Amino acid sequence: MDTKDFRKNAHKFVDWMADYMENIESYPVKPPTKPGDILARLPQHAPTGPEPMDDIFRDFQDIIMPGMTHWQHPGFMAYFPANASPPSILAEMLTATVAAQCMSWQTSPAATELEERVLDWLRDMIGLPNGFHGVIQDTASTAMFVAFVTARERLNDFTTNHTGLNDAGRHTCYASAEVHSSTDRGIRMAGLGSDNLRKIPLDENFAMIAAELDKAIAADIEAGYRPTCVVATLGSTSLSAIDPLQAIGEICRRYGVWLHVDAAWAGSALVLPEFQWMIRGVENADSFVFNPHKWLLTQFDCSAFFVKDKAALIRSFEILPEYLKTREGPQVNNYRDWGPQLGRRFRALKLWFVIRSYGITGLQDHIRRHIGMTRALAEQVAAEPDFELLAPNPLALFCFRYCPENLPEGRLDALNERIFEAINDTGEIYLTQTRINGKYAIRLVSGAPATGQKHLDKAWQIIKDISRKTK
Ligand SMILES: *Cc1c(COP(=O)(O)O)cnc(C)c1O
Repeated sequence: MDTKDFRKNAHKFVDWMADYMENIESYPVKPPTKPGDILARLPQHAPTGPEPMDDIFRDFQDIIMPGMTHWQHPGFMAYFPANASPPSILAEMLTATVAAQCMSWQTSPAATELEERVLDWLRDMIGLPNGFHGVIQDTASTAMFVAFVTARERLNDFTTNHTGLNDAGRHTCYASAEVHSSTDRGIRMAGLGSDNLRKIPLDENFAMIAAELDKAIAADIEAGYRPTCVVATLGSTSLSAIDPLQAIGEICRRYGVWLHVDAAWAGSALVLPEFQWMIRGVENADSFVFNPHKWLLTQFDCSAFFVKDKAALIRSFEILPEYLKTREGPQVNNYRDWGPQLGRRFRALKLWFVIRSYGITGLQDHIRRHIGMTRALAEQVAAEPDFELLAPNPLALFCFRYCPENLPEGRLDALNERIFEAINDTGEIYLTQTRINGKYAIRLVSGAPATGQKHLDKAWQIIKDISRKTK
């Protein structure tokens, strides 16, 4: 394809993109696709010769689009949002075009220095203290893994990277019983063993009980184990529980244990002064992560990871063969040494476009709007005698179930599961489910930029109608 054809196609695609955004509500939020439907329409073998872009684009529209889940659909209220926004999309177009591989300062100085600056902006915007240094990771899962490896190495004077863990004893880690699965996976990947993850009991708000953490660490020390890392969660995935950071941080400091704060989704709410209470005590944390790619209008992937002791991080990851040496040395950041990847996309650009294009107040409006709408809807749900909320809802998420009087507890799980499936089969809204104290719960999150009050009103109407007629 020459640049003349490229230009023509690109203009056509941009028109398609704008139409998609305008018409997104006309798609079912989740497609009725069955396993294998798409595969059956794709040729078994790659084409031998070139095919015209018109044909490829037609197949994109005919085969691929009908099998897509529309995360930007206003009825998308499942999982957590994966926000996109016009400035972010535009930046991704430029990133794809310049196509730089930003592993070190020298391989694109502007990418490195922009990353440093926008992460400083972000740090200040969410109220983290100055001592934290930021880097963009692909996901919060990677950030978690990086935190575990750095905690492990710092505890072992940076020797186990070389010797392996054979003689290093049993490293124990701690998190709330509500912790995200990426914690278990990070511990496995860091070689610490998920049997050594202590899941600390929860209080009535599903937050970690700090006194239980204290007891668990003391017992492990007594047993000759080596407490290595504590993960505090702000906004648990299942139901948005918020661990008490102040109390947890004081315990970590007392025992010299690494504290990683996982605020993957809820961290975006820290742009609001009224949610700063969530990070009271964060000065005792060693690392902190949140995902602008969830709720801060920035395309996937963009996970903001902050670390206090950047020297420990770099010492844990840096490997410097001759072919990677550059003459600038330590006066610049070489982000290839801040995590597992060598090659890195230029992800800071979209963040820069987003922050500048919305301004802090625009981002605050977005978050505040979703929290306000969702909490108001949760109140309506709680006010209906045949519905109940199953957990507190401090942010833009709530969990509920349908529980008509005179139906025994033993039948509620199955009934709610049927309701849940019927709601999602409408193609109008998309919810996910969880279990809370053993009870089947339907979970609703609002966060897509397109979602407005009328969409939440409609969601509630669908939920009520379906619940009351499901047997
Ligand atoms: C979404 C989420 C993660 C994982 O995020 P990725 O960026 O997809 O790895 C981790 N922790 C919490 C609390 C989350 O909500």
